[in-house]
Amino acid sequence: MNHAVRRVDVLVIGSGPAGLAVATGLAAAGVRGVEVLEREQQAGGVPRHCRHGGFGTPWRPLSGPAYASRSVRAAEDAGAAVRTGVTALGWADATTPTLDTVGVHGHERIAARAVVLATGARERPRAARLVPGTRPAGILSTGELQQSVHLFGHYVGARAVVVGGESVGHAAVGTLRRAGAAVTALITEGGAGRRGLDARMRLGVPVLTRTTLTEILGRPRATGARVRHADGRCVVLPCDTIVLTGDFVPDHELARRGGLSLDPDTHGPTADAASRSSRPGVFALGNLVHVNRPARAAAAEGRRAVPPLLRHLGMR
Ligand SMILES: Cc1cc2nc3c(=O)[nH]c(=O)nc-3n(C[C@H](O)[C@H](O)[C@H](O)COP(=O)(O)OP(=O)(O)OC[C@H]3O[C@@H](n4cnc5c(N)ncnc54)[C@H](O)[C@@H]3O)c2cc1C
Repeated sequence: MNHAVRRVDVLVIGSGPAGLAVATGLAAAGVRGVEVLEREQQAGGVPRHCRHGGFGTPWRPLSGPAYASRSVRAAEDAGAAVRTGVTALGWADATTPTLDTVGVHGHERIAARAVVLATGARERPRAARLVPGTRPAGILSTGELQQSVHLFGHYVGARAVVVGGESVGHAAVGTLRRAGAAVTALITEGGAGRRGLDARMRLGVPVLTRTTLTEILGRPRATGARVRHADGRCVVLPCDTIVLTGDFVPDHELARRGGLSLDPDTHGPTADAASRSSRPGVFALGNLVHVNRPARAAAAEGRRAVPPLLRHLGMR
């Protein structure tokens, strides 16, 4: 690895709503070397692949992609550099805010006066959910489903079972229908709720409440989901796709590798009201810390971290 070190003022890892908001605020406040690294080819974080509305403000709702491009533009217009296709891999040493990165131009070591971790959260993948059964193709999280459909135009199957009754489960139903797949059922261990009733009445999607996924069937592609109802009855729902939704876990790998103290409940890094982590010069915010909040809450947190960062840089 080439160990020449490039220096910036603030290095933000992750270009979701939280990372872009803090970068925009810092650049607008006059910090000149603000750089955002994003491992995906397109900046914007999760909203990039959420075609549904529900972003922006209640008086000016936006689709996820519109919200993402507006946030990227704001950061760039303010003077921040947003670099895509670059992954932060780990820390150069145990004390300074210096990160090793890799991208299309190879490896690079970047030292910063402050590092902001805004790496977000992901739905727990199938392997970590301890669902018995086979390991076939056709098992997706909502994020993977949305990326397949909205970013890559991939085929996602003909009939699907959606597991989980939170709002992301309903977003998955919408994406499947837009992709032309039939939804065999949405199953939830809780009750139907308002959105469950809407799915049942308006969309005709069977919503099976107090129902648990007990086994995934089929190989090489999924052929069914065995479920158990609260009264003990078990049935197999035929499907070639199963979407495992919700159950968010923080993308905390960099925080863990950096020795930041982690919250025992969320497993994200601990951060004080000024978004300072346990490691000097390293800040943490957004869903990495709070796991599952709306985009506007993540962006607001990014904006709130600007004054403490300016103080850290000696600019206040
Ligand atoms: C399916 C789904 C639907 C949703 N629908 C809504 C909705 O309708 N309305 C709403 O307000 N909210 C919605 N949300 C929640 C919203 O998207 C999140 O609150 C928001 O995206 C969190 O922002 P963030 O910046 O913390 O993280 P993210 O948006 O997750 O961004 C983190 C970024 O960091 C990057 N990254 C991670 N590790 C590295 C690394 N090592 N190097 C470089 N880059 C890295 C990731 O690629 C990612 O782009 C939805 C979420 C999901 C999953």
